[in-house]
Amino acid sequence: MTFDRRDRHGFFIDGALREPTGSERVEVIHPGNEEAVGSIPKATPDDMAAAVAAARRAFDEGPWPHTAPAERAEMLSAIADGLEKRLEELAWLSTAQNGMPITLARQSQGIEILRYYADIARDVVWEERRQGLAGTGLVRRTPVGVAGLIIPWNAPSLLMNKLPSALLAGCTVVVKPSPETPLDTYVLAEVLDDVGMPPGVVNIVAADAEVGQCLVDDPRVDKISFTGSTVAGRKIMAGLAERIGRVSLELGGKSASVLLDDAPLEAALPATMAGACLNNGQACIALSRVLAPRSRYDEVVETLGAMVGSLPVGDPFDESTFVGPLLNARQRDRALGYIELGKAEGARVVTGGGPVPGRDRGFWVQPTVLADVSNDMRVAQEEIFAAVISVIPYDGGDDAAVAMANDSQYGLSGAVWSADPERALDVARRIRTGTVTVNGFTYDVGLPFGGFKQSGIGREWGLEGLEAYIEYQTINLPDGL
Ligand code: NAD
Repeated sequence: MTFDRRDRHGFFIDGALREPTGSERVEVIHPGNEEAVGSIPKATPDDMAAAVAAARRAFDEGPWPHTAPAERAEMLSAIADGLEKRLEELAWLSTAQNGMPITLARQSQGIEILRYYADIARDVVWEERRQGLAGTGLVRRTPVGVAGLIIPWNAPSLLMNKLPSALLAGCTVVVKPSPETPLDTYVLAEVLDDVGMPPGVVNIVAADAEVGQCLVDDPRVDKISFTGSTVAGRKIMAGLAERIGRVSLELGGKSASVLLDDAPLEAALPATMAGACLNNGQACIALSRVLAPRSRYDEVVETLGAMVGSLPVGDPFDESTFVGPLLNARQRDRALGYIELGKAEGARVVTGGGPVPGRDRGFWVQPTVLADVSNDMRVAQEEIFAAVISVIPYDGGDDAAVAMANDSQYGLSGAVWSADPERALDVARRIRTGTVTVNGFTYDVGLPFGGFKQSGIGREWGLEGLEAYIEYQTINLPDGL
């Protein structure tokens, strides 16, 4: 199924598409062939200010923050139904915008996250009487206020990691998608309109980083939830410190797949490859470091190299494609630059290592395995954001593997593999990352997700994901009330 090029006009502000204040436009480019698949207006600081004003008004004047949680949950279900009906179109737009393989794009709209938060609304204790030391208090979960949701370009579900929990909490929001991937959010705006979301509760302005900074700096915004690079996250956090703005950060990663010396490679290597090459390697959770015991190093390198070398690379609209193009020339050049850097540092290219032959248009890098990498090399320490896997040998048993896995500025995800699950669990407990899977590579929206160290602050998903948008209020009660 294909859809027409989309040229969108206006920004979704206060319940309708509003005229942009500027006259420039931004082309949305398909990374597979560099052809434009649509365009949107170029946002200005005035557009962003109008969106913040609408969100502030909708929060301060209601009704959204004061509706019953059950009503907000119903709205989440209605949005999920509306998006579900347009799933094929949303998947097409995702692939058109960022080159995500179409089979993955169908699974990455985050509709299940809307349903999850609709379901848990009834289990949340929104208000309870609690006995303190001196008397009785009413402890309430109230919304944090106006939330700015800043989303990167790599997956549409990243918006759904924030929006459902923010709405269930009773927040009003300004969503700032990347200008590279705005088109799917226009479908969301139409669905919000269809389901009767009150004006101003959700406002959407796709904008560049400079106009995004206006959202961060606006004192009418109570909280920023950001997903993206650690560099940008650091800047956003510093900006918010001035007014003690609330912040959640979901940042980069350099996660390890830790193979213990008895690891079942027939299961571990395919799952590690899938985890490393997920979304063309453009995933914060990518298993981009493979830690292999010296005794099995050659076997791991050879098997993984052969598997990665035979991955289907090609048109992301093709159902059989596993690895498509990178987002843009900058991401391609960055990946190729890291491969060259790895070689200069002493790494050996086992498979891949360059542009995809025959692809003259678009931003293509072969899935790549680098061997003879040591954990202190830059390719082992820095986020490349492409399907480039570093295989690193370790000597000295499980303790050495744990130390190497933890020798990173990041701490987002990971996997541990052993024929003995108890042994792998023991190692998993010692790994300093927000998520780690024993004998697998699993993500579960019903459980908290987020980073240790420079991978971020705060959690998404699970009950903890709702907490990110909650301020606790305590009302001390007089005797008899
Ligand atoms: P980025 O962090 O610069 O941008 C991500 C989003 O944040 C975009 O919407 C951008 O417009 C916005 N943004 C950036 N700076 C901002 C600011 N100061 N104020 C408000 N909004 C701001 O990421 P990028 O430049 O698109 O990619 C660079 C690298 O970041 C990638 O190579 C990758 O390593 C990493 N990255 C990580 C993730 C992730 O999921 N953790 C996502 C995207 C990029």
